Amino acid sequence: MIINWYPGHMAKARRLIEENLKIIDVVIELVDARIPMSSTNPMISKLIGSKPSVIVMNKADLADPAVLDEWVRYYKQKGRHVIVMDSKGGRDIKPLIALLRSLAAPRLEHWKARGLKNRSIRTMILGIPNVGKSTLINKLARRNAAKTADKPGETKGKQWVHIGTQLDLLDMPGVLWPKLENQLCAYRLAATGAISDTVFDMETVITQLVRELGQWYPDELKKRYKLENIGAKPLETIDMIGRRRGCLVAGGMVDLEKTYKLILKEYREGIMGAISLDRVADFSKGADV
Ligand code: GDP
Repeated sequence: MIINWYPGHMAKARRLIEENLKIIDVVIELVDARIPMSSTNPMISKLIGSKPSVIVMNKADLADPAVLDEWVRYYKQKGRHVIVMDSKGGRDIKPLIALLRSLAAPRLEHWKARGLKNRSIRTMILGIPNVGKSTLINKLARRNAAKTADKPGETKGKQWVHIGTQLDLLDMPGVLWPKLENQLCAYRLAATGAISDTVFDMETVITQLVRELGQWYPDELKKRYKLENIGAKPLETIDMIGRRRGCLVAGGMVDLEKTYKLILKEYREGIMGAISLDRVADFSKGADV
């Protein structure tokens, strides 16, 4: 995982993606279904321009189905194409392939009219680190184990994977930087594990996470940690969780560090249940995120 993004890294990533996008017909933008807005990179829409694209909401197995539906409606209202995905699990990838094919159909016609009958459609996956780009590429590649050879006239080593008749995927994820300048997005990226533990303040992240869990998912929180009620303040809840789980130091005080790690691990792994953090209402007011 790329930890630190300096302006130089950003420019390089952008250039690399720009170069590859020249030969791409349909773009897959991958986001984390639990935080679809926090896990986008605003540069993506600029890079894509007028190319057809589909938003794939990945890790749907970890997201709240009701909130997921809201997001699907939100994107559709904005005229976007959207697919819900679980790259790690058994969710069918045929709807994604069918959508890519239909979005690419006009391009295929375009090439046909120019006499290029066998020009296949080319797609590429873009997203910030940890949204599951490699996992999705593997899932699509497994479907069609044979990788194609290098295409003539292109940089040697560029690998393509057939993912359907006349549909190829560039076997190279386009990695963009996470949106850290917005506090809300940064905390949610940290909570889901999209950014490294070394670049955020654990206490701030857990306090905010427990506050939101208490607000939106009190039953899940109570059930998981066998709590009778949620504390008036996040720190009270954290204290209760620490005691329940025996995260104590000498003198009977709660070992906060240990409790933070426990909560974070269990949230990230979906052990508390299917929980979303980004809500359409957070972002629909036109917030610049
Ligand atoms: P990349 O950095 O975007 O290429 O992300 P990876 O493909 O390396 O995935 C990051 C982590 O998310 C890995 O631990 C994957 O196993 C996990 N992951 C990817 N897709 C899913 C998914 O749909 N559901 C769940 N639960 N985990 C996923």
